[in-house]
Amino acid sequence: MVTAKLDKATVHEWLEKVLDPEVPALSIVDLGIVRDVEIDPEDTVTVTLTPTYSGCPATEAIETSVVNALKKRGVGAVSIKRVLSPPWTTDWITDSGREKLRRYGIAPPSPSLDIACPQCESLDTERVSEFGSTACKASWRCRECLEPFEYFKCL
Ligand SMILES: [Zn+2]
Repeated sequence: MVTAKLDKATVHEWLEKVLDPEVPALSIVDLGIVRDVEIDPEDTVTVTLTPTYSGCPATEAIETSVVNALKKRGVGAVSIKRVLSPPWTTDWITDSGREKLRRYGIAPPSPSLDIACPQCESLDTERVSEFGSTACKASWRCRECLEPFEYFKCL
């Protein structure tokens, strides 16, 4: 049971600990998919999420993680609102989220076609395969340091 009155900042802090199943280095807050948190007088928490792209198989897993994370903290009722408009863009990934991606060895999404190697920052890179370990990532290789890496392509 929740003894103190819930507030948005606290719920937001909890959500910062919900990790993206695609990239476990990143929380859903880092990804920018948490659009809003509402708490009604009965302490029902409504979390508004915008999936990275509507076909992303991780979307349902993320929604389940959010519900579980809040229930674990004693929230009685959680509802998820899925909002598709405006569509998520990679611009919503926070600066700290981009930094975490790089440290995790994944090139953060780039609006240009120059994908920098997360190891050495060389732009001399090439795509090896459209598909990486999951649907949201592609396999790339750096011609400079010869390291393979993944590019987060969920647009
Ligand atoms: Zn490199």
